[in-house]
Amino acid sequence: MTSSRDLLDGLAHLTGIRNAQRLEYSLLKTLDGIYESAGIWAIQLDAAGRPRGLHSFDRKHDAVMTVPFDPEDQTVPAGLLERALATGQPVADADASGRPVSVFPMSGLNEFSICLAFSFDSEGDNESLDAHLVKSFLSVYRNFVRLIDDAQTDELTGLLNRKTFDDNFRELATLERSVHRPGLPEDRRQEPDPEETQIWLGVIDIDDFKKVNDGFGHVYGDEVLILLARLLQQSFRNNDLIYRFGGEEFVVLAEVAGADRAAAAFERLKHAVADYTLPRVGRVTTSIGVTQLRPYKTASAVLDEADQALYYAKANGKNQVCLYDRLVAEGVIKPSKIDVGEIELF
Ligand code: GH3
Ligand code: MG
Ligand code: MG
Repeated sequence: MTSSRDLLDGLAHLTGIRNAQRLEYSLLKTLDGIYESAGIWAIQLDAAGRPRGLHSFDRKHDAVMTVPFDPEDQTVPAGLLERALATGQPVADADASGRPVSVFPMSGLNEFSICLAFSFDSEGDNESLDAHLVKSFLSVYRNFVRLIDDAQTDELTGLLNRKTFDDNFRELATLERSVHRPGLPEDRRQEPDPEETQIWLGVIDIDDFKKVNDGFGHVYGDEVLILLARLLQQSFRNNDLIYRFGGEEFVVLAEVAGADRAAAAFERLKHAVADYTLPRVGRVTTSIGVTQLRPYKTASAVLDEADQALYYAKANGKNQVCLYDRLVAEGVIKPSKIDVGEIELF
């Protein structure tokens, strides 16, 4: 059975990276078709512009093959790569064995930045390389990467948007189905596995936000939303996923071991917000509803649980974190029945 760790990895993976990988596959496959005799690599760069991996198109498997970038391996001469990155312009030279190599950089795309390298067996082949064509392909690649990025993020805060959350969960359901082992008894599926990494979902809603808008105006309201987005990013780890669901509602998927630590993580966020004084608006508070992700719960079931906990927090004084399971254990809210029909969807 898929663990929660797989689940979060899956979500992070599906967020942008997967679509960009499909683009890279198309780019390398197209170029491979045009320059059959060339060795073609996409050198993947990290956010700081350092080479991370070498990707190439494998005709036999119709797939992109990846190896970690090794500076000792002179497939692409290091000096050439540095020159291309420093100038932002295509550069050409010979490698250690005298074969012509050309490098085209495409930076400024965060983790999607690449350099394209072409290596030919002889000088004659190299002359067939149409630099204009390669540059055109690279600008199409850049435009699509930016489109993917824009479509997945919220304009005001730069956080992931609601649509991305839905897309991620929909795609995840397909993955889950493909690894689902039939015949596993229902009760086994719900048994907690002590080794399992836990993923917690928190819904964060600003308290009395309408008063901010009414009292200071929409622009000041937006400032509060931007501040909350920043505090969310500071309070959670890089691998955790943070979404703005629209309006003044935010959702976090965080990897935390155990209910106590999950509660503590969201308490930290609650305090970070409450302790911050905005120049004009002053202080704002948040109410937070938290629940644990389980492979048998649908996205809407998880959101519903977190919403119930949030509703309880709002109705009982605001500026607090409530955990769904604890409220159920205390008997203050009724457990929601998991619809058996829904299990098969996830
Ligand atoms: P509660 O403590 O119960 O959450 O009260 P509230 O006033 O925060 O909740 P309510 O849902 O009644 O109001 C939310 C307000 O959020 C309504 C709307 O004016 C405001 N809002 C929604 N989207 C935006 C936005 O993008 N920018 C700004 N500035 N305000 C927004
Ligand atoms: Mg609200
Ligand atoms: Mg609110």
